[in-house]
Amino acid sequence: MEKLLSTLVENNVKYAVEGKVASYIPELNKADSMSLGICVTTLDGEEHCAGKYEEKFTIQSISKVITLMLAILDNGRENVFKKVGMEPTADAFNSIINLETKNPHRPLNPMINSGAIATVSLIEGENRDKIFERILKFTRKITGNPEINIDEDVYNSERKTGDRNRALAYFMKSTGIIDGDVEEVLDVYFKQCSIKANCRDISRIGAVLANNGVLPWNGERVIPGYVARIVKTIMVTCGMYDASGDIAVNVGVPCKSGVGGGILAAVPMRMGIGVFGPALDTKGNSIAGVKILEELSKELDLSIF
Ligand code: GLU
Repeated sequence: MEKLLSTLVENNVKYAVEGKVASYIPELNKADSMSLGICVTTLDGEEHCAGKYEEKFTIQSISKVITLMLAILDNGRENVFKKVGMEPTADAFNSIINLETKNPHRPLNPMINSGAIATVSLIEGENRDKIFERILKFTRKITGNPEINIDEDVYNSERKTGDRNRALAYFMKSTGIIDGDVEEVLDVYFKQCSIKANCRDISRIGAVLANNGVLPWNGERVIPGYVARIVKTIMVTCGMYDASGDIAVNVGVPCKSGVGGGILAAVPMRMGIGVFGPALDTKGNSIAGVKILEELSKELDLSIF
């Protein structure tokens, strides 16, 4: 497996020159655009990695998967999906248009920024620190890594420049989707996006989802099977922004990307995959990361369809 992964890294790293590292959050622009790494965690707990898999990056939108799990655990499925829909969108991840034009005025799904901000507003906790502490604790649990933390520089960069997200959040407050203090909710959202991880951590989250909510390394159940199922389904239809259909055809497994260059994939009953390649395509997905997943899916016949 290591051999296969190394070959795939060598074959696909060239695509990175066609992409661009995200710069709208200034701190992200410091990443080395030619990095590419991958890790696979199988359900019997084996781990296989290649390339720049130890490099750390901020998980950005991959955190939306984590907060969706927690929001459903705290509120139940019905209450979450009253506030946020389940439908894919052909608009960009930070688009504002549907919030006003669609009726009901709720975000289309939990994987776009508006939907993720609405989702995190539902997580229980006395104040922003307590809420984020729960997110961090849960992330450490599902990665099996007690050292997971945030990147303070990225967090500050997001906070300073997150005006589009502020616009989305204040709009949702005006329509009753968000209750409570908008700045508190946004602060938690900026922090969750700034969680730092590597490919191994991400592949473990994928393995937990692939294993229907049970940690493969010790058999502990952390979420009910139905929560894992909902999250994986929404990843297939909405997880790769407005390229989700393309990825469903060409990779065929639930995936979630982030503008930091990470991709989380969960291959039901088989494995979790974590990929990192910070050069992005025009939709915001890791350009070499998508290519390596396509090739791996063909090699190992991973598509669920
Ligand atoms: N922090 C990023 C933002 O809110 C996350 C976006 C992403 O990874 O898609 O713009």
